[in-house]
Amino acid sequence: MRKINAYAAKEAGGKLEKFQYELPDIGNEEVDIKVHYCGVCHSDLSMMNNEWGMTQYPLVPGHEIVGEVIALGREVKGLKIGDKVGMGWYSASCMHCNQCMDGKQHLCSSAEGTIVGRHGGFADAVRGHWSWVTPLPKGLDISKAGPLFCGGITVFNPIVLSGVQPTDKVGVIGVGGLGHMAIKFLKAWGCEVTAFSSNPKKKDDILKMGAHQVVDSTNPEALEGIAGTLNFILNTTNVSLDWNSFLTTLAPQGKLHTVGAVLEPMAIPAFSMIMGEKSVGGSPLGSIALTRKMLEFCVRHNIYPTVEEFKMEDVNKAMEHLEKGKARFRIVLKA
Ligand code: NAP
Ligand code: ZN
Repeated sequence: MRKINAYAAKEAGGKLEKFQYELPDIGNEEVDIKVHYCGVCHSDLSMMNNEWGMTQYPLVPGHEIVGEVIALGREVKGLKIGDKVGMGWYSASCMHCNQCMDGKQHLCSSAEGTIVGRHGGFADAVRGHWSWVTPLPKGLDISKAGPLFCGGITVFNPIVLSGVQPTDKVGVIGVGGLGHMAIKFLKAWGCEVTAFSSNPKKKDDILKMGAHQVVDSTNPEALEGIAGTLNFILNTTNVSLDWNSFLTTLAPQGKLHTVGAVLEPMAIPAFSMIMGEKSVGGSPLGSIALTRKMLEFCVRHNIYPTVEEFKMEDVNKAMEHLEKGKARFRIVLKA
């Protein structure tokens, strides 16, 4: 048994309150992580407000965890006490379905969400299956690494999945937690990057991150000005935008890919895809192996999320800061 001190929401729209719970004796394949830092993702906010209709209260959010292994089950592979590790949106998967056997564990139909029906990383410790507990490469700054485990891999995966080439011209819609990491990855990938932002105050920061230009995501005329130029666009917003105008900015055979959990159905006119053989897609997180490769890529290119640090006890201030669109660009809680 392990007593966990956490912060939980008790109802939709409720603030986070101190909350204690007990974990049973550790299972053979489980790992307990002492939380050092936990990133704050917009999905934490969406889950707190039950926007996706799957929240179980009390809810302990937090799924961008980095910390240290403090306990191990007997069958755990590749980890030892004291290892610095990270864990993201998923904390377990079945490890025997076709998707898991094919190395696509993030597509496992019974993958366990770290904050779905169980408790996450806004806490002093958290538990997961060893396979989803990823060792941090040497040299990775632990104070900034947390957001890589949800936001980071979520935007890295579509670059690989969609076969984005270094010669491509690409766009990123929304420069928040996910979007700013996408810009940094795509810049290092070699692409010409157009950032689509609704906030003109972010422009200087966005250019410093490596974007070649910034275009107003909410202005159809500005989008028309770059019609037919982009090979790949990644949407990281969760709002309804003029998707048809974004399809117009794509070159023939270009792809609009969303990782942003847009709540309303996205209006996609058939002819905007037919003419020019364009496509639309989406994806969740990424595989375990790709997460490891992403971490190596970050070390090689010295890529880190730009973080604002809050103390874990100030978690409500942090959530408010995110909700008001003030985060620059990812909030990290220090335990
Ligand atoms: P975030 O930090 O809040 O960033 C979202 C960005 O969207 C904002 O910074 C803003 O960028 C833009 N935006 C917000 N409201 C807007 C509006 N009214 N009009 C135009 N743009 C607007 O959120 P995040 O943590 O990056 O998460 C983004 C989305 O990805 C969320 O829906 C989250 O749930 C989802 N997500 C999905 C996965 C997955 O597996 N697919 C994983 C993680 C997160 P600008 O100020 O630059 O316009
Ligand atoms: Zn997330």
